[in-house]
Amino acid sequence: MKELVILSGKGGTGKTSLTAAFAGLKSSLMLCDADVDAADLHLIMAPDVQETHDFVGGNEAVIAPDRCTGCGTCLELCRFDAIDENQGEYTVDALNCEGCGVCVDMCPESAIDFPRKTCGQWFVSHTRFGPMVHARLGIAEENSGRLVALVREQAKKRARDAHIDLILTDGPPGIGCPVIASIGQASAILIVAEPTVSGIHDMKRVGELAAHFKIPAMVCINKFDLNLDQTRAIETIAREKNILVAGKIPFDPAFTKAMIQIQTLLEYDDTCPAAKAVRNIWETVMTHPAMKLERLM
Ligand code: SF4
Ligand code: SF4
Repeated sequence: MKELVILSGKGGTGKTSLTAAFAGLKSSLMLCDADVDAADLHLIMAPDVQETHDFVGGNEAVIAPDRCTGCGTCLELCRFDAIDENQGEYTVDALNCEGCGVCVDMCPESAIDFPRKTCGQWFVSHTRFGPMVHARLGIAEENSGRLVALVREQAKKRARDAHIDLILTDGPPGIGCPVIASIGQASAILIVAEPTVSGIHDMKRVGELAAHFKIPAMVCINKFDLNLDQTRAIETIAREKNILVAGKIPFDPAFTKAMIQIQTLLEYDDTCPAAKAVRNIWETVMTHPAMKLERLM
């Protein structure tokens, strides 16, 4: 089984639109939306949710008023300003509590409970292109690295069970924990870069991350015709860093129009210049040695 993770240094580069466009180019695949902080692949895929599961991650301090004597130790010790005091009554502000457990350990009255907390939900769905595993992280939750790992693990398990040999993963933007969680053991990554100074910078950072984890990296340049100098710069840097340039997509409003219609680019207009570029990129990516598919038994 192979997994292609589509990444970008920042949001809004067309990563999700490209993932969706790819989805129609293979008859059997598993979709995985690992951009759990800003999941939007579902906006194009309109998934029919079959399973909903809670994502339980971390703990949350809860003060039991009947056991609390109001000594104030927890207020003094909490480094995250998560303890509130009002007329001698101590409570925990759940939005600020980082679940470090210091107050739980140090409360002289053992008055602080520490239950596991539900940080979000993950789903298994049917889409018109195949099954999809996706998730929604709760507001102000910061466990996205773990949720990304969980979503990928489930996508892999279910792909294996269904004899699906390709997972297409829409990865998170940036280079933080969620991205690291999204590329471990991936077969290859495809970076979507825009021809801007920051686009080049972002591509370099993601490329370095991939090199660090020894994951083969490719890049495609979206809206390449908006700045040909920067496009050339991306191509040069990619060559230097051993990143294959899989292709270039011209600026095309069809991407946005397709999204508004809840369609992939190829569903919306199979013949537009961007659609042709996407097909070529797909061919290049799928013939990369790292993506050569083995038949699953
Ligand atoms: S440390 Fe324990 S007893 Fe003291 S105020 Fe906090 S919860 Fe109450
Ligand atoms: S668990 Fe940590 S962050 Fe949460 S209230 Fe206690 S000391 Fe503060």
